[in-house]
Amino acid sequence: MNLVRDIENLYSRGLQQWQLARENYASLSHMKIKHFNYNGREIVAQFNPCRHKSATASVDALSISERECFLCSSHQPREQESIIWDSRYKIQINPYPIFNRHLTLSSIEHRPQAIVPFIDDMMSMAAALPGYVLFYNGPACGASAPDHMHFQAVPFHQLPLCREAINDDCDLSVYFPFFYIIRTRKSEAKRWFNVTEKGMRKIHECNDEPPQNVLCWKAKKQWHIIIIPRSKHRPACYGMGDEEFLLSPATVELTGVWPITRESDFNRITPSLLQSIIEEVTISEDDKNIILDYFISHVR
Ligand SMILES: [Zn+2]
Repeated sequence: MNLVRDIENLYSRGLQQWQLARENYASLSHMKIKHFNYNGREIVAQFNPCRHKSATASVDALSISERECFLCSSHQPREQESIIWDSRYKIQINPYPIFNRHLTLSSIEHRPQAIVPFIDDMMSMAAALPGYVLFYNGPACGASAPDHMHFQAVPFHQLPLCREAINDDCDLSVYFPFFYIIRTRKSEAKRWFNVTEKGMRKIHECNDEPPQNVLCWKAKKQWHIIIIPRSKHRPACYGMGDEEFLLSPATVELTGVWPITRESDFNRITPSLLQSIIEEVTISEDDKNIILDYFISHVR
């Protein structure tokens, strides 16, 4: 099975037969874009109204229980084709794209979003998708369907943080507190991930999964995992009011690309505002050091 080729065929058919996807992917080519360079880091903002649903998704338990799950096949449009991976996941075109290739990889079963039980699947799918980076938005930090296990995948080179990570002769800590694992052996990368995850539990008092965004890709025979621990879901400035911003950061925003769904927000944003939002929704240096200390004393 050549998954990347099959995905290209999925796109050819999907964009022909599915009007919603065709229009939303076509709109990417004439979207307004702003490029910023902020303290040496690249930030891209795009005016992308098709992401409105995602930016305004209500993800509290009551709202989730009352809506039909859009990742369950029984509620998906007939035009939304799938490639089945390992009998357990559906690979599909995301009809509300940020990039010209944007996939959703969802469990065939309706089961809650969780990373630890599925990190192995994430890594295996990343290995089967060269050129793509897979990402996971935790149930409390960006997933629009926290009740249905899924990953997303986009072209690796589209995310500024990934591009810089792979050429990492710069100090990546200028971004914000996150953890970057690079290992040759899969079992070791997974173990390092699990130790980091346990360390994150030291800064949260409840037993739920620590809030996080995770990226994974495989390149040049090495496994790469970036873990972004979160302190909160949405910033204090989030809202629909004229003085507020409809900005709900998840993995893509934290890696340098901001799809913005309201034109007034797109016109008003500044790189320093985006940076301050990143600092607000990620953990402090002190919390990062707690995780790091746990990691150093437990990884061997
Ligand atoms: Zn579902």
